[in-house]
Amino acid sequence: MIIAIDGPAGSGKSTVAKIIAQRLGFLYLDTGAIYRAVGYLALKKGIDLEDEKALVNLIRQMELTITPEKGHQKIAVNGEDITEKIRTEEIGMAASTVSKHPEVRKALLELQRDFGRRCNLVTEGRDTTTVVFPNAEVKIFLTASPEVRAERRLKELKEKGIEKSYEEVLNAIIKRDRQDTERAVAPLKPAEDAVIIDTSGMSIEEVVEEILKIVEKAE
Ligand code: C5P
Repeated sequence: MIIAIDGPAGSGKSTVAKIIAQRLGFLYLDTGAIYRAVGYLALKKGIDLEDEKALVNLIRQMELTITPEKGHQKIAVNGEDITEKIRTEEIGMAASTVSKHPEVRKALLELQRDFGRRCNLVTEGRDTTTVVFPNAEVKIFLTASPEVRAERRLKELKEKGIEKSYEEVLNAIIKRDRQDTERAVAPLKPAEDAVIIDTSGMSIEEVVEEILKIVEKAE
């Protein structure tokens, strides 16, 4: 069974997907981390994020290792563990920029599909419900108001000891939403057959329970 979860930055999809993977004993795949890895490496190597050809070359040459751990995933590129390093908003924005190129998306497609061939999977990310796993048994689109998402991000950053203002975080979310929504390829929008859950007034546990009910029905 494949459970695919999409939604905007800060909608809680990572947190929820990890918990569900752990509860069900499914493999967890965060596809955003793959795009973040490409963004990270491109920035590090000084590659223009608008240069599609150069990015595809970079992908062909890079050695990406994704190691599933219990309800969690480790990611390394060219031997460097980048699991934590790619969690910044700067890399999120770089990921958003590189992922708008069709050839970049194509180059990363099979890598993602491979995971679904191996075993039961909970995956999160933009086109996981439409392009990567169009036959996923469960498709969820999580959403929440930009303000609620900014509050969540702020809390997350604080826990990591990173001080940012609410306005700064809110603006970054609005900016990335805009870039993700307006792009031609794989824009941010729910798949036609996805169940949309507005998590604004919900706790993580409530969201998890709601999704587990949907999974039960799909079984
Ligand atoms: O989900 P996350 O914030 O890690 O994703 C970073 C960016 O990567 C998103 O804003 C989106 O533009 C892009 N992305 C994508 N397709 C995916 C996952 C992420 O285009 N499957």
